[in-house]
Parts: sequence; structure tokens; C-alpha cells
Amino acid sequence: MVLSKTASESDVSVHSTFASRYVRTSLPRFKMGENSIPKEAAYQIINDELMLDGNPRLNLASFVTTWMEPECDKLIMASINKNYVDMDEYPVTTELQASHLHPHPTQYIYNRCVNIIAHLFNAPLEDSEAAVGVGTVGSSEAIMLAGLAFKRKWQNKRRAEGKPFDKPNIVTGANVQVCWEKFARYFEVELKEVKLREGYYVMDPTKAVEMVDENTICVAAILGSTLNGEFEDVKLLNDLLIEKNKETGWDTPIHVDAASGGFIAPFIYPELEWDFRLPLVKSINVSGHKYGLVYAGIGWVIWRTKEDLPEELIFHINYLGADQPTFTLNFSKGSSQVIAQYYQLIRLGHEGYQNIMENCRENAIVLREGLEKTGRFNIVSKDNGVPLVAFSLKDNSCHTEFEVSDMLRRFGWIVPAYTMPPDAQHVTVLRVVIREDFSRTLAERLVIDIEKVLHELDTLPSRISAKISLTREEKKEDNSTVVVKKSDLEMQREITTAWKKLVMAKKTNGVC
Ligand SMILES: *Cc1c(COP(=O)(O)O)cnc(C)c1O
Repeated sequence: MVLSKTASESDVSVHSTFASRYVRTSLPRFKMGENSIPKEAAYQIINDELMLDGNPRLNLASFVTTWMEPECDKLIMASINKNYVDMDEYPVTTELQASHLHPHPTQYIYNRCVNIIAHLFNAPLEDSEAAVGVGTVGSSEAIMLAGLAFKRKWQNKRRAEGKPFDKPNIVTGANVQVCWEKFARYFEVELKEVKLREGYYVMDPTKAVEMVDENTICVAAILGSTLNGEFEDVKLLNDLLIEKNKETGWDTPIHVDAASGGFIAPFIYPELEWDFRLPLVKSINVSGHKYGLVYAGIGWVIWRTKEDLPEELIFHINYLGADQPTFTLNFSKGSSQVIAQYYQLIRLGHEGYQNIMENCRENAIVLREGLEKTGRFNIVSKDNGVPLVAFSLKDNSCHTEFEVSDMLRRFGWIVPAYTMPPDAQHVTVLRVVIREDFSRTLAERLVIDIEKVLHELDTLPSRISAKISLTREEKKEDNSTVVVKKSDLEMQREITTAWKKLVMAKKTNGVC
């Protein structure tokens, strides 16, 4: 006891942190250490390890915000120790909101965000009527909640009609984000996917409406497909579904997954009808941490009216003081993200969001044109969707998109490559998401680096990916084997390994 105390004292007082024994020896990885370590050493160890993470601002794979103004960073740090549920009332219904006499300031901020976003989406609200919506961790939680509301509404209706209600389904495009598949599996709803085809990478509204049946709890349209940024035609879907509902007597509603597009369309495509202006759109989700311009950890879901959110899903708790209605999957969470969202909404206003979105669109066009000039790529994104550029090689018989992606990493760029969902799985694309902090200089720099990569690939004799099999054998439970397709990640890993070998072989030949 005395000995170890002396040792740690000497570490702290005599050596710099780097010279202390804590930084020189490694800690047990998967077990808690016997003794405490000095705070400086803990900081240093973790900080050093994190240095090896990629630079988030060069991660062009993600829609999630990586830069905010320093004033907002300050507000975030100041509220980092506040638990959101301790002070919050969820504005699920107007009466409950009015009955709360001493709301905390954070609650006001939260309510304002919900109302501002509902107005942005053209919710049909009377003058002083409060919007119906909740803040979530992201669009995934928002989609779980919206899906649950549809499921419950449909079940209640079927039960009242004396019809079976055990086989609910949702109709979507095969291009849906993975959170819809999660919702389907966790909450036992079948996902009926409209297949894609080469050259058409979003849900075809006509085919979607054909797939709707009496068990369909909603059709989910995407404003800004994750794969190529394209906006789905929600207006056409709404019109076709109105017809079908008339013929069949059903009242199948629409949910719009506006995770990325919800903060784009209102500012640069105000004429586009995709939101509550369309009568069948009953709920919309948006990720505050994507083009809402807040760091990871916030999303929103807004319902058209109170009637679209079944009352029995709302929990009333009172053990933290006054009555609080809540409808979220988690209880405690930080307040910082809500405060940061409010900062962006008031700081930027309509003008600010419009400027940023226009700028992103222009930078996407600069990049798109730069890529077209190389003459080597087909562009599979549209200029009037989410600001991103998705592209594939015109000729991938010698080298694939996975190899381009891999080589770009050497320049520090993270540009993902992936195969499209069925029935366009033979198409591979590279995707660059343009965020606020991706400047024109960076766009131009990226084109130059892509050209370098192409040039280098052209001089390479061998096609790495040709040596890698697209499939592998997998053992089944009965010990027989089946041939399965390798995942994109597996392909990427194998290509990286093959490149490393090649680069090392080159070095030994003295070639640079
Ligand atoms: C990002 C995304 C999601 C998931 O959103 P999170 O905020 O990351 O949970 C869902 N749908 C679409 C279309 C998305 O782009």
C-alpha cells in the first residue's frame, strides 16, 4: 500500500506524463485495473489512442455534422451535465402542456424546436395550437416511434372492425435505411420492399401502391435516399394512394423519412410538395444531426395532428415533480443537443439555412462537374436532391470502385464504396456527402486526388479485385456448405490486404 503510493507520487511529481510508468506500460484491455491511475495519465492514454481515429471532417461518408460555431460549442459544454428528463415536458398534447405551471427553460426551448420544425413542414396548425412531436436521439428512434404509432392505429381500427390484426406490413423501397429493417424486426412488422432497377434507385410510387394491401400500416417514402440522395416523388405517391384508398375503402397513410432532406427541401425547394401539404402524410422524421446542423445525437418526429398519435402510447410520469407525458424509447439523456438545435434555428434563421444549403448544392455541382471532366465516371445522383455525389466507374473491368475508395484513404479521404440493393446489386457506387464544412477548395482538391488515384490505377498491371473472389463458402449447422456473397466490408478488407502486399512488393523492387 505504502509502496504503491510512493510510486504514483513519484510519477506525478518527478516525471512528465509521457515519462510516467502508466504511459510506458499498457493497461489491461478487457478487465478493470486493480488500482487507480492519475488523471493526467488517464487523459494522455485515451487522447493518444484517439489520435489514430480518422479526421471526422475528411469523412465524406457521413451526413452527420462535424463542425459547429464555437459559441454553440460553449453552450453544449455548459449544459453537458443536465439531464433532459429532469426538466422537460413533452408537448404531446396541448392540454397537458397548458396544465404545467412551472416549466423549466429547457422545456420552452424544446417546445419551440418542435413547433418551429412542424411549421417548417407545413403542419396544419391553428394560430395558437401547439405542434405534436418529440425530440429523439436521431431519426432511427424517431422512425421507431412513428412506426409504433401507425401500427397501434391500424391495430385499433382492425380490432374495432373485427378483422385480424396480426400481420401488419410497411411498404418501402429496397433503398430504405437500415433503421426501417430494425423497426420491422424489433416490432414484428413485415417490410415489403419495392425493388430497384439499373438507372432507377428510388421507390417507384406506382409499384409501391400496387403492393399496398389491407394489412399495410403505412407507406414509407424517403426524402433523400441514403444511396444517391434522390428525393422520392411523395406527391405522386399521395395522389395514387388517394385513388387506391377510394377504391378499396382503406385509409393507408404515408410516413416521410426526411432524415437528410427535411432541412434541405424547405429552404431550397420550397415549391416541392412532400410534407403535410399532402393530406396522406401523417408523420415526418428528420435528423437534427444531419442537415439540421447539430453534432450527433438528435432527431425529431412530428405528427400531423393529435389524432395521429394514439394516446395509449404516451406515458405519464410524475415522480420528478409535475406530470410529464413522455413518448420516447429512452428515459434519461443529455440536454446539450436540444439546446444546440435551438441555437442553430435562431442563429441561422431561414436565411442562414438557405445560404448553407445553396452553398452545399453548389459545391456538389463543382465536384460532380470535376468528376465528369475526368471522363471516367457515371453520375448516379441528381443535382436536386441531398447535396452529394454518387458515381460509378464507366469501366470497372480493370479496377473497381472498391479499389478507388481504398486508394483515396491514403490521401486521408474516406469515400465509401457499396453495391446497390436488389435488383440493382450489380451496380457499385462511390459516394461523397457534401456537408457545410466541405469547402469548394476541398471539393477541388478531392477531384485532383481522384485523378491521381485513377492515374496510378492505370499504371498498375494487375487488377487486385480480380484476384478476390466475390463469394465464399459458409458451413451450415449440418456441416454442409453453401456459397454466400461476401459483404462490401469483407471485399474492402481483402482489397486492402492485397494492396498492402502489392505496395510492399513494389518497395522491395525499389519502385516508388
Ligand atoms: C441517416 C438516415 C436514417 C437514420 O438516421 P439516424 O439519425 O442516423 O438515426 C434514416 N433514414 C435515412 C433516409 C437516413 O438518411
